[in-house]
Amino acid sequence: AKRVYLFNEGSKDDRDLLGGKGANLCEMTTLGLPVPFGFIITAPTCREFFEAGNKLPPLLEQEYRVALDLVEKQMDARFGDPDDPLLFSVRSGAAVSMPGMMNTVLNLGLNDDIAAGLARKTGNPRFAYDCYRRFIQMFADVVMGIDGEQFEHEIERYKTAHGKQNDVEMSAEDWQEIIRVYKGLVNFPEDPFQQLKMAVEAVFLSWHTPRAYVYREMNNIPETLGTAVTVQAMVFGNFGDTSGSGVAFTRNPSNGDPLFFGEFLFNAAGEDVVAGTRTPLPVSALQERLPAVYDELYTTQALLEHHYRDMQDLEFTVQEGRLYMLQTRSGKRTGRASVKIAVDMVREGLITEKEALMRVSPEHVESFLHPMVDPARKTEIVATGLPASPGGATGRIVFSAEEAVEVAAGGDSVILVRRETTPEDIHGMKVAAGILTELGGMTSHAAVVARGMGVCAITGCGALTINYAEGTATTDAGVVMRRGDVITLDGTAGEVMLGDVPKTEASSSDDFQTLLSWADKHRRLKVRANAETPEDAAKALELGAEGIGLCRTEHMFFEADRIDQMRGMILAANREERQHYLDQLLTYQEEDMLALFRVMNGLPVTVRLLDPPLHEFLPHTEDDMAALSQRIGKPVAAIREMTESLQEVNPMLGFRGCRLSIVYPEITEMQVKAIISAAVRATEEGLRPHPEIMIPLVVNVREIRLISKIIDRGIQAVMQEKHVSIPYKIGTMMETPRATLGADRLAAEVEFMSFGTNDLTQMTYGFSRDDVGKFLPQYLEKKLVEQDPFVSLDTRAVGRLMEIAVTESRARKPGIKYGICGEHGGDPLSIQFCHDLGLDYVSCSPFRVPVARIAAAQAKV
Ligand code: ADP
Ligand code: MG
Ligand code: MG
Repeated sequence: AKRVYLFNEGSKDDRDLLGGKGANLCEMTTLGLPVPFGFIITAPTCREFFEAGNKLPPLLEQEYRVALDLVEKQMDARFGDPDDPLLFSVRSGAAVSMPGMMNTVLNLGLNDDIAAGLARKTGNPRFAYDCYRRFIQMFADVVMGIDGEQFEHEIERYKTAHGKQNDVEMSAEDWQEIIRVYKGLVNFPEDPFQQLKMAVEAVFLSWHTPRAYVYREMNNIPETLGTAVTVQAMVFGNFGDTSGSGVAFTRNPSNGDPLFFGEFLFNAAGEDVVAGTRTPLPVSALQERLPAVYDELYTTQALLEHHYRDMQDLEFTVQEGRLYMLQTRSGKRTGRASVKIAVDMVREGLITEKEALMRVSPEHVESFLHPMVDPARKTEIVATGLPASPGGATGRIVFSAEEAVEVAAGGDSVILVRRETTPEDIHGMKVAAGILTELGGMTSHAAVVARGMGVCAITGCGALTINYAEGTATTDAGVVMRRGDVITLDGTAGEVMLGDVPKTEASSSDDFQTLLSWADKHRRLKVRANAETPEDAAKALELGAEGIGLCRTEHMFFEADRIDQMRGMILAANREERQHYLDQLLTYQEEDMLALFRVMNGLPVTVRLLDPPLHEFLPHTEDDMAALSQRIGKPVAAIREMTESLQEVNPMLGFRGCRLSIVYPEITEMQVKAIISAAVRATEEGLRPHPEIMIPLVVNVREIRLISKIIDRGIQAVMQEKHVSIPYKIGTMMETPRATLGADRLAAEVEFMSFGTNDLTQMTYGFSRDDVGKFLPQYLEKKLVEQDPFVSLDTRAVGRLMEIAVTESRARKPGIKYGICGEHGGDPLSIQFCHDLGLDYVSCSPFRVPVARIAAAQAKV
């Protein structure tokens, strides 16, 4: 296959072949823009190079020499000819942009003779020797692996000795001195063609630099891609005062303002702009000093944005008052800028609403909902865990919920650091700015609760060793964080940093609302929220939820004053005692449900029957037991005895879900009575409640029949007593593999089904949700799983079970309503899958609702 392409032989659609940079240089050339001519060696050649054990294909040099001849003709100069020298830049560029990750060599093609020739021909020896010293330095660094520091050091030493401040004061003679010193440090090849060949190899090899590797890991870029090599005629920003180099954006990349925006340095090469040794001027400075160049640049950027129909990031150089374009690509931008630019471009008629929706990522959406750690200002990351709940937070370390409440009351922002969290920690979690746990996965208590509250959290941070007694958290690397120390969490990335790292503010915007309204117009999937408190429900509604898809009734008893009643009920020795606590819980339950119906007036509220993993509610220590004994007036011994008898070996597979209703029907009776009484009262207030009662963790149809009977009986009793008729539905959850495989039979008995994919994933994998933190990071690192299956649905196996369930139950009962209420309901990839599967709705944490609305639209577009 053809390995070498001239700039007039490709287009922007050839990214895979020519790399993004090369493809766009071709496109600009075809558009008639001023691009210094050149050629590209393809990315597949890079793969050939690696496969041959880092050897260039034998015929490659011949091939690119042909292209090189044509570039010489076009540029009217000759590579390696001292009388008429042509110099090259040798640039890297993969199909996916990896800015600054790989290598570039500039001013290639110089040696002593040719540098002297360049000085003669241009009549500008200072410029020629500046190029030469830059070349030696860069070639030594990039191609020969000699540390660039030494060279900078020599320049500094020379300047000090000769009383010079900066590069501008350096004369041709000064640079020649420097070059003599350099040549003592490095022995580089004099032959330009040898230089070129070595530079091409070096660019290929730079695909494997550690930083490029890490970047690909982070951004899921395939290792096999490889980089193309662009060989381009040099133009010179360092030629004098009517020359210079700049970078620009067609719109402001931080806030999206539709204003041309950039920086320029006079008499400087492009690398000086990036190096930051001199402070660049705003690009408008060109308008004063070189107005014709500015006009041309302005027209060019407008043309490019229009042509690519996206905000562009440009690199350009001016040589002796002439503009040259060196690069264009879609510019990186913040979340706010991304939304503003997308919405503006629709208004400008540049893109469609659907295209605008595709331009926004979940991270972009999150930046409107949570403060985010400013990526440019991150400090050293001292520990990494699971990105359990997005956003950024800074605060003082506390090690208990009580301490959190106390310190927060004093006006300080706190980060709650725990080995894990339990329902008892809720009050501390509520006041914390962020939560950090050593144990637990993406669906652990800490993760689920934090996401629900919209609080930033990192779980499964195995690198920490927490010592409650001493008030320290120590990382594996030996960094000690003490009670009261200020740390910053990046919950979006799962990273812990010391001190206060700056964050961007979160707040909605008109553009954001506009984009969301387009999402609503273009999606099919409905979006509901997982919420149990009126506050969460109100938040969800505000963020666009179309009902509640999961109200976890056991969460309603997490509050300090009711958790005791809940525990009393669990620890009851007999039916009578249990009934005593149930009566009290009934009051809470009814009030809570009424509050929810008020918020969600006219919208469905799916209430799941009690499903408490017992270990989350049982007292853990002697102190806990003593305190509970005090509060509920039950002897410690009795509490201990019940606690012991209730201990389970596998609590997640234990006495929970509908199994509770089977053994203690009175619990279900209480819940149904509370739900329907609340619905009656809501109706009496003139509201339209839509309760949907959901039976959790079923494995067969007989369970459903038995429990439905209890539910129906309870509902009829209330409705008859009050003489009010309430529309209601009974449904069930698909959480066990067995239920999904018999879904058609279950569907026959109910009106809706909802996938509880946290449990379904747990049971399909046999990975305990609470314990994955111990081994899942290794699975990810060793690539034994592509992704955390608790974050993004495993479409292969769990998805297959879901597909069987949907297809078979709809065959038997066409149109039966299907939803998903696991944490996956807020994950964009999983939402795509649910859309394709034909589910009716997804349900997620309130703060994920906007992400889900956009993702549902993207799935359909
Ligand atoms: P990166 O991918 O790291 O941005 P580039 O290949 O874009 O690397 O090269 C870095 C800089 O080198 C460019 O921004 C530009 O200033 C300079 N450069 C590259 N090619 C040329 C050229 N042909 N003439 C002048 N300067 C160049
Ligand atoms: Mg560049
Ligand atoms: Mg479940």
